[in-house]
Amino acid sequence: MTPLDDLPLRDDLRGQQPYGAPQLDVPVRLNTNENSHPTPPEVVEAVVEAVRAEASALNRYPDREAAALRADLARYLTASSGHPVRPEQVWAANGSNEVLQQLLQAFGGPGRTALGFTPSYSMHPIITATSGTAWADGGRREDFTLDPVEVADRVRSTAPDVVFLTSPNNPTGTALGLDVVEAAYAATSGMVVVDEAYAEFARPGTRSALSLLPGRPRLVVTRTMSKAFALAGARVGYLAADPAVVDALRLVRLPYHLSALTQACARAALAHTGVLLSTVEQVKHQRDRIVAEVRELGLRAVPSDANFVLVGGLDDAPALWGQLLARGVLVRDVGLPGHLRVTAGTELETTAFLTALREALAAADAPAGVPA
Ligand SMILES: *Cc1c(COP(=O)(O)O)cnc(C)c1O
Repeated sequence: MTPLDDLPLRDDLRGQQPYGAPQLDVPVRLNTNENSHPTPPEVVEAVVEAVRAEASALNRYPDREAAALRADLARYLTASSGHPVRPEQVWAANGSNEVLQQLLQAFGGPGRTALGFTPSYSMHPIITATSGTAWADGGRREDFTLDPVEVADRVRSTAPDVVFLTSPNNPTGTALGLDVVEAAYAATSGMVVVDEAYAEFARPGTRSALSLLPGRPRLVVTRTMSKAFALAGARVGYLAADPAVVDALRLVRLPYHLSALTQACARAALAHTGVLLSTVEQVKHQRDRIVAEVRELGLRAVPSDANFVLVGGLDDAPALWGQLLARGVLVRDVGLPGHLRVTAGTELETTAFLTALREALAAADAPAGVPA
């Protein structure tokens, strides 16, 4: 194979590593925050029917505007948030990652800057870099929270073209107060993107940034069907914003970017929102169980509004990651010293994780050569 360096690759991509959460074939996979509950049979039927109906028209390009899907998504957002969202405010793409990429293509680019607050979603800096946009990191407090005054100061001093806020945040799990979003918005003339991939898992009382959209044309809320809707394999993400933002994305999107099969599949799933989201309460229960039991083991657990928990207070996170994997449980080493992130899966998976964790900690505590 030709070494990559022999190709006339862009200078800023040389030496970069691709996104790579391990995809390992182990019994308990809790490393990418998917919904572990398999697609319910009635949704499988509906998807197959929808795809069958679409199949005879595959000689034609799909609806470039995905109008029917956007109307369905607007209805879902309106019903679930209580804030009216119109179809022309919604845009859909292949995962919210593609939505984010289109946002950076339209509002970032060479000579422009995006500001995020890490630790946060690892794809924000990666998509920023691949779009030729400079990345600035505002960091977080010791407890991973963000303070509205500090965020506004950082936004003002950086003068970014795009600000990323993630709520609930990945990998920490905590939702942001809307005061942080309001403060960031007021401090910039750039775009403010609130990544709400985990919104459906938030604890009661958490407010969505959707409520802030009226009168804020530079505010964007991104969502996904990959997490709560248990549809990661279909690749459907979307945003809600001022219709002018959607106009901007039309300038950069590839024609017919969202396949007819994807649109049909997503619409069939949305017609079964109730059954798909019925697992959310179970997942939240397992999440709260992880937080409680991890604390009983003397470890730390960051309060979570998402479908995962960031476990802290670990002596050697990479070693523990390997010990859990040896017990058939795959979690995520997000590169934060002393921390591992675990997805809340089914009750059985959660039990497997907690059992493996107890065993691994006991083995680590036992003096060398003495069986635990
Ligand atoms: C998982 C995740 C996404 C989802 O990306 P898709 O491309 O929609 O699958 C987006 N943002 C955050 C913060 C995530 O953790």
